[in-house]
Amino acid sequence: MSDTLYEQAARCPSCEEPGRLVNKRRATSPDAPRGTMMHLLECRNDRCPQYVAPESLPNGDFIPAERNRWFIQVNPNGTVPPKGSGAVGPKAFDAPNVNSDASVRARDRIRLLAAQDEMNGGQAAEIAGDLGYRGGY
Ligand SMILES: [Zn+2]
Repeated sequence: MSDTLYEQAARCPSCEEPGRLVNKRRATSPDAPRGTMMHLLECRNDRCPQYVAPESLPNGDFIPAERNRWFIQVNPNGTVPPKGSGAVGPKAFDAPNVNSDASVRARDRIRLLAAQDEMNGGQAAEIAGDLGYRGGY
């Protein structure tokens, strides 16, 4: 039994497990034909290389689990571009906004890792210093 293109695209790019549909929305890119839909999928596999377990911080903050998410482009006629074709065709979706949930969560995650590093002797800060990195976390 062979997967349809949609089923192939619905598999997690990291672990190949079928992903779960989170939501659907219209493609916002001007390059996408009218009626193109973007399906957001999430990997529910806890053994996925992209999975990050939820964590509680010493200060009581809770960071939810991080799961791999990806988009499937569904063309107006219902077809799905073959896997890997996104690198050559026009992108139907825009880069995430800096204030989007994903961006905020990514920065929270980096701050958490920085805080953990601090507790473990601050090796990353030391490396950042060696590299001349002057940005904030
Ligand atoms: Zn996965």
